Amino acid sequence: MNIDIQRHKNILEAELKRLEAEILEVAEKESDLTWEAKQTEDGTTTEREDVAESMENYESNFSITSTLEKEIVDIKNALDKIDANTYGLCEVCQAEIEEGRLNAKPDARTCELHMN
Ligand SMILES: [Zn+2]
Repeated sequence: MNIDIQRHKNILEAELKRLEAEILEVAEKESDLTWEAKQTEDGTTTEREDVAESMENYESNFSITSTLEKEIVDIKNALDKIDANTYGLCEVCQAEIEEGRLNAKPDARTCELHMN
């Protein structure tokens, strides 16, 4: 394999840092791989409009959290593979993932043939 793993590792680590900072704006960390969406800034309000608004906030926090969480899991998975020396191999056929695909998506789990 002639891909530059160190370069991909740097990209993945920077991306992980960015995503973890981003997710903390909308969620509390539960464990290494799970986050819990924040309810609201102020959960004691009884005004109807405020309740509706905080429900909306929660729903939007929740959907942002699940998207970011999924990205974080994929990136950690890729970093684990770097440590295990299996980075850049397709999870389906074990062939080397195309270099162009890894450049575009450093946390790709499969080759182009098995991407769907
Ligand atoms: Zn494959």
